[in-house]
Amino acid sequence: MVQAIIGANWGDEGKGKITDMMAEHSDIVVRFQGGANAGHTIINDYGRFALHLLPSGVCYPHITNIIGNGVAFHVPSFLKELQSLKDGGVPTPKILVSDRVQLLMPYHVLQDTYEEERLAGRAFGSTRSGIAPFYSDKYAKIGIQLNELFDEALLKERLEKICTLKNVLFTHLYHKPELKVDELFRQLMEWREQIAPYMADTQRFVTNALKEGKTILLEGQLGSMRDPDFGIYPFTTSSHTLAGFGCVGVGVPPTAVERITAVTKAYSSAVGAGAFVVRLDGDEADELRRRGGDKGEFGATTGRPRDVGWFDAVATRYGCRVQGATDVALTCLDVLGYLDEIKVCTGYEIDGQVTRDFPVTPLLNKAKPVYTTLPGWKCDVRGITDWNKLPKEAQDYVLFLEQEIGVPIRTVSTGPSRHENIFR
Ligand code: GDP
Repeated sequence: MVQAIIGANWGDEGKGKITDMMAEHSDIVVRFQGGANAGHTIINDYGRFALHLLPSGVCYPHITNIIGNGVAFHVPSFLKELQSLKDGGVPTPKILVSDRVQLLMPYHVLQDTYEEERLAGRAFGSTRSGIAPFYSDKYAKIGIQLNELFDEALLKERLEKICTLKNVLFTHLYHKPELKVDELFRQLMEWREQIAPYMADTQRFVTNALKEGKTILLEGQLGSMRDPDFGIYPFTTSSHTLAGFGCVGVGVPPTAVERITAVTKAYSSAVGAGAFVVRLDGDEADELRRRGGDKGEFGATTGRPRDVGWFDAVATRYGCRVQGATDVALTCLDVLGYLDEIKVCTGYEIDGQVTRDFPVTPLLNKAKPVYTTLPGWKCDVRGITDWNKLPKEAQDYVLFLEQEIGVPIRTVSTGPSRHENIFR
């Protein structure tokens, strides 16, 4: 059976922790989209790891970790992360990389960086890791699949074609140096040596695994609001962040997906550009940002301070709807113990009308939050694992969110570590 763990919001919901926890009972963990442009934080017996490209099952020796065909595969990031696991004393993980995955090339990073420079103040808040140019090239059919590194003549021909196109952009639009086919070819030959041991027909692997009754966990990156179709376009990422895309991004049948767990925090956080209706400013924001997550709300990949705000029920209800969530994992409940009262955004006011439906971007830009205020619990709930041990106000807060979202909250996370959870 296939289970997906995905983000209901803007990313950074705590998917890493939930995946790491659920991975324990899975045989295979799959990354199916995105690249090294966002990060998961997992904390286990070996220490604290920020994973960007590697699936969250890499710390369990019994798990096969798959980088699916839908990923933007950046070889240097992959090797660097493997090394950081080794340095942290983690036993060598089992990893397979799809032979159909496409390579995130050095010129994708350059193009992303040049474009953000060119746009200056009007930029999209890209992490400059080349994701948008990568996916543009993939759909323009000038990407390079990993398997193509093994046909040198074909590869050279492809590189010639790519460089002709890219160099028009690089020299005329960005006024930067030209790309050289030989240099790129040499780089790819080096990568070929390094990646060959991991390359596999992962679609066949997961098909066989399903026949054998194995459990596959699809691990989403970012969240619903960053989906290029259903998110806050154009302030989205360039690959689909929805559970449904998991079927494409590794090649499992849609009918095999039995459970879709949407992860959301007990408050909101977002990094990057685009409307964020519940954004707080000043001292209120500073305090929540400082207390949030396990080390404050700062991006796992970029270190950028995240915007923070109260729980956005409008965005989360929609985020769960487009994911087709069957249950919710609510993280970081422990963070809110310092508050006398807690607000929840239950509606958006747009042009004087209050709506509970998440709107398209031009309307979203005009939305103002409508809050409902609930009493706080004023104590530390960190590490509580029994629902009945939660203060009544904390229980009521969770129940209120559940009613607003309309999907059962089956897991409540009360701390960053693997075992700090309440199961309902
Ligand atoms: P992801 O990209 O969705 O995996 O999210 P990140 O890992 O980037 O951000 C979530 C942050 O919250 C990380 O620092 C986690 O260690 C932390 N975290 C996850 N669950 C909890 C929780 O229940 N309580 C606290 N305090 N921190 C948590």
